[in-house]
Amino acid sequence: MRLRNIPGAEEILNASEYVVKDPATLRGAWRSLFAAQGDTATGPARKTDGAEPLERPQLHIEIGMGKGGFIHRMSALHPDVMYVGLEQYSSVLVKAISKLTADPRDNVKLICGDAKTLAEIFAPGEVDRIYLNFSDPWPKARHAKRRLPGRTFLALYDRVLSPDGRLEFKTDNRELFDFALEEAAAVGWQTEALTYDLHRDEALCLGNVMTEYEEKFSRKGNPICKYIIYRNVEP
Ligand code: SAH
Repeated sequence: MRLRNIPGAEEILNASEYVVKDPATLRGAWRSLFAAQGDTATGPARKTDGAEPLERPQLHIEIGMGKGGFIHRMSALHPDVMYVGLEQYSSVLVKAISKLTADPRDNVKLICGDAKTLAEIFAPGEVDRIYLNFSDPWPKARHAKRRLPGRTFLALYDRVLSPDGRLEFKTDNRELFDFALEEAAAVGWQTEALTYDLHRDEALCLGNVMTEYEEKFSRKGNPICKYIIYRNVEP
């Protein structure tokens, strides 16, 4: 997704409390940020309605967040989870800032940056869940390395994810999905859940939060593919 350059986008980013200006400051320190926002989640485990008490706050990130609808909705549904959205274009990120400004959250941070720098932003094992939603397909073979569910990026996710961390990927692009499954299998990730038609899969669709692209493509009648994968980490 590339929007026309929005005049003043950089200024909007600089002025926003949601945007982490120096992403390296987050590394190993995101919990203090969560606490600083007036949350008690870093204190004693607290119980949420009907849920198990949380031993520690969780960190979930979306890579290629786009306009931020997914994170905005997820963060309201899961107030004990800290969400970080990564998006490479400031012209797109400003849309997420608008949503957060209109309807604020205390468990969201945004980063304008490239997924390539993930290991500079997060310490080894500190991310509990990574979401890839409707990642750019890069259909030309010579661009395969840029695909976010490809093995180059899987190696990065492997570094920052916790031992029982999960990677979730949604797309309506069957070619990209097949590629993603092959890549994951080739480097030893295991499949926890898989569907080629998310909106008709009762179990996987439970609690599903739609992204902007998901709304657009499912309205056209495209089935949505989704996997949840993990890797076996030596104890
Ligand atoms: N997740 C959103 C947007 C999908 S479009 C949704 O489902 O609606 C894919 C987005 O990923 C674009 O906004 C693009 O700029 C971003 N993106 C692609 N490659 C990226 C990278 N390497 N690092 C950060 N963002 C990236």
